[in-house]
Amino acid sequence: MSTIQIKDKKFALSITDAEIQAAVCKVAEAINRDMSGKDPLFLCVLNGAFMFASDLMKNVNVPCQITFIKLSSYEGLYTTGVVKEIIGLNESVVGRTVVVVEDIVDTGITMERILASLKAKGASEIHVATFLQKPDALQRDIQVDYIAMKIPNDFIVGYGLDYDGYGRNLKDIYTVVAD
Ligand code: 5GP
Ligand code: MG
Repeated sequence: MSTIQIKDKKFALSITDAEIQAAVCKVAEAINRDMSGKDPLFLCVLNGAFMFASDLMKNVNVPCQITFIKLSSYEGLYTTGVVKEIIGLNESVVGRTVVVVEDIVDTGITMERILASLKAKGASEIHVATFLQKPDALQRDIQVDYIAMKIPNDFIVGYGLDYDGYGRNLKDIYTVVAD
């Protein structure tokens, strides 16, 4: 189906599962090339990145560890600008190569906060792998090493991303339809 309804909003199919999988595989190939011998710790940012992290990690073949943190900044369709840490990092990152795995870099506020925290905790090398980036929404000067896809500045759901908790299970990406 190419149009769906979630609560009060309509969403139209914009990126298919097949396009997503091809883009994720390319990121995994680049990571396999760059992270060989670095014993990286992958840090999946919950909730949104769970599907990307799962597909990405199935295609990463360098020895590595994976862990999770949980943050929240969105309420409904809009970022609040205030990033809440709901589950923190337990592992030591001192001297480690860390690859942050995010669903989307939007304003960059969340990523800026994660990067500052990893630096303060003593990570020696920090890289960012994001499934999506909205270049037109970026408000912070952050370096994103791996980007599966770039999208316009519209609200999307699916593939881990939600509207008010719904739509995370969709395997394709849908964009909100203006009403
Ligand atoms: P930022 O701090 O870069 O503005 O936003 C980061 C977080 O906001 C992302 O990790 C994601 O969870 C959420 N977010 C940003 N844009 C969208 C969007 O279009 N749809 C959904 N569902 N979440 C988004
Ligand atoms: Mg996120």
